Amino acid sequence: MRIFSKRKRPVDLGGYPFERLPRRSIGSVPLPQGEHTSPAVPESPYGAVALEYLRLFDQHRDGEIAARPAPVDTAPEALTRVLKSTAYFLDAHAVGTTADAIVVLVAFAREPEADNLASAWVAGGQELQAAVRAAEIACILAGYIRLLGYSATAHTATASEVPIHRLGVEAGLVVPGRDTVEHPYFGASFSMAAVTTGLDLAPDRPLDPGISVRGTSGKDRRPSHLGAYPMETIRRVSRPTTLILGDEVPQVPLRAQFFNRARRGDLGGRAQKESNRFATKHPLAHAMRPMFRDLVPFQGGSVRSDREPDGGSAADNARAVKSLGYYLGADAVSICEIPRYARYSHDRNGERIEPYHRFAVVMLIDQGHDTMEAASGDDWMSGAQSMRAYFRGAEVAGQMAGLVRRLGHSARSQTNLDSDVLHIPLILLAGLGELSRIGELVLHPFLGARFKSVVVTTDLPLEVDEPIDFGLQDTCSQCFKCARECPVSAISYADKVMFNGYEIWKPDVERCTRYRVTNPNGSACGRCMKVCPYTNEGLLAHRLLLQVAIRFPWARRPLVWLDDAVGHGNRNLVKKWWHDLEVRDGLAVRPSGVSERDIDVERLYRIETKPPISYHHASMMPPPDLATPRPLDRRAALDAAALVESPEEALERRRRGDPTPQHYRTSPQK
Ligand code: SF4
Ligand code: SF4
Repeated sequence: MRIFSKRKRPVDLGGYPFERLPRRSIGSVPLPQGEHTSPAVPESPYGAVALEYLRLFDQHRDGEIAARPAPVDTAPEALTRVLKSTAYFLDAHAVGTTADAIVVLVAFAREPEADNLASAWVAGGQELQAAVRAAEIACILAGYIRLLGYSATAHTATASEVPIHRLGVEAGLVVPGRDTVEHPYFGASFSMAAVTTGLDLAPDRPLDPGISVRGTSGKDRRPSHLGAYPMETIRRVSRPTTLILGDEVPQVPLRAQFFNRARRGDLGGRAQKESNRFATKHPLAHAMRPMFRDLVPFQGGSVRSDREPDGGSAADNARAVKSLGYYLGADAVSICEIPRYARYSHDRNGERIEPYHRFAVVMLIDQGHDTMEAASGDDWMSGAQSMRAYFRGAEVAGQMAGLVRRLGHSARSQTNLDSDVLHIPLILLAGLGELSRIGELVLHPFLGARFKSVVVTTDLPLEVDEPIDFGLQDTCSQCFKCARECPVSAISYADKVMFNGYEIWKPDVERCTRYRVTNPNGSACGRCMKVCPYTNEGLLAHRLLLQVAIRFPWARRPLVWLDDAVGHGNRNLVKKWWHDLEVRDGLAVRPSGVSERDIDVERLYRIETKPPISYHHASMMPPPDLATPRPLDRRAALDAAALVESPEEALERRRRGDPTPQHYRTSPQK
């Protein structure tokens, strides 16, 4: 945990003070000789899984170049800043450049302790794990450069035409060591990948070969299954802090999910046209798309059946699975059982989904603080922020599910592209957050709303976690910041209601979806998560304020006021690194407008009539297999507000023994 803010540090400098390291001129540094060699593949189950993912990414090392260059400043210094920032955005630990190559370095993940079952699962896999991450970054970066209209080829641990170690020395990332190259901070504990390009870049100078190599200490007092965030300090409760009438919550088909409704034309022609591109309009997000899609066939698969399933007690398995999640790159991992209502009833083709798997390993991926700082939340980077987290989640969960299947247990990853389960109730039940005013969004005490989720469902016996309570219901009842800042007033100012069996601040999902899909001045939207006070830098001061808000309810309102007073939620332009671009017909072009919002404290007082919320109850959902558009009836959805119960009314109805309301029932199903 850091004490001092990095808000004045540009993104292209990275998270470590590399600029302070002594450097030499290129001719005065000995360069390592020899060809590129691939890392050894360990016999542990992870070895084969990692190799599968490396090979998949290797298929995206090269590709078509856009027919016309993008309208961007190609001065070497300016371009190098953007490309280095891109690599840091994608979570490289260090980045260096030569005149025609970008080299990215990813440090080894922390190994699980020797008495943790996951230790054997991943034994000897650190180099490959870092190589998968480095390959992911290099392949996305190369695809991005090609969309800008320039040649670019990624070189990875398993497929390279260049000596990456030598490039790493030239690019000032590493120095020649006794047997291999070394990094001053990471020792020999890292993997590298590179992108060679036809662009002219501003080269870094090589590091002084006499530099002292500290290496990583390897000492981390926190057990590996606990991760970086002290969730053990947050109160556990037996039930979520918002009421769920589990027996009344209708199971819904995928067809009824609002982005799917947009795709099927229910929100009109414009939303339908934009629905397949809204999140990937920026060339960086666009570059992730083919790789992301290629992960889908790896989500499920057959279970290794040539030996007895591996594993220990439910408690040992849970500990191991959590350590594995952090090892693979998740930012938060927790476990719950899957209730009936967290399963979709029908798939995207309208076929019934038979329930499978008892447990859900729920993982969160941070969308990244630095870039969120610079963004308005609904500008051109918003979609890329989401895509990066969804893609990383698919990579982490896909590898976890693949490994669990190799242990002899059924497992499937459930991603943003293909999921048979609803993530929101699972995040809530696994104790990764509380439902917030944003509505259909669970807020994590340390990450705030700045995350995307991914789930692995499995039959591996697991000990489950409990929900949490960090006082969010009370805070949100006094804080209207997300509602105030939503560009289309889709977040409720009113009290919580019961909607389809959940106690919830009901958002206008129709209005939100329509804006995200058709946003003319950006790609998608996540402005509510950007401005929320819990979405912060995670400094010691933020942790202390969180504890104050948890322990002293009277402090919550002043803290919300303080958040506005210090300007949290405004854009920090020191951190702005990306080009505002939009992909149209395969070309990256300048968009017609850019959303450049900052917070508007007075808006709350200007709005006299709070916008009404539309309620698309289960009874108004389209049938699961409806292929044709079912236009939304907004008038009927606004009138349906009259059917809504308060939580107290719902409980009173149940005490009287009255049946579940008719509007909780979905359309006739197969
Ligand atoms: Fe409003 Fe954007 Fe949040 Fe939707 S995602 S509720 S449109 S701020
Ligand atoms: Fe709750 Fe305020 Fe965050 Fe909205 S902005 S989710 S009201 S804390």
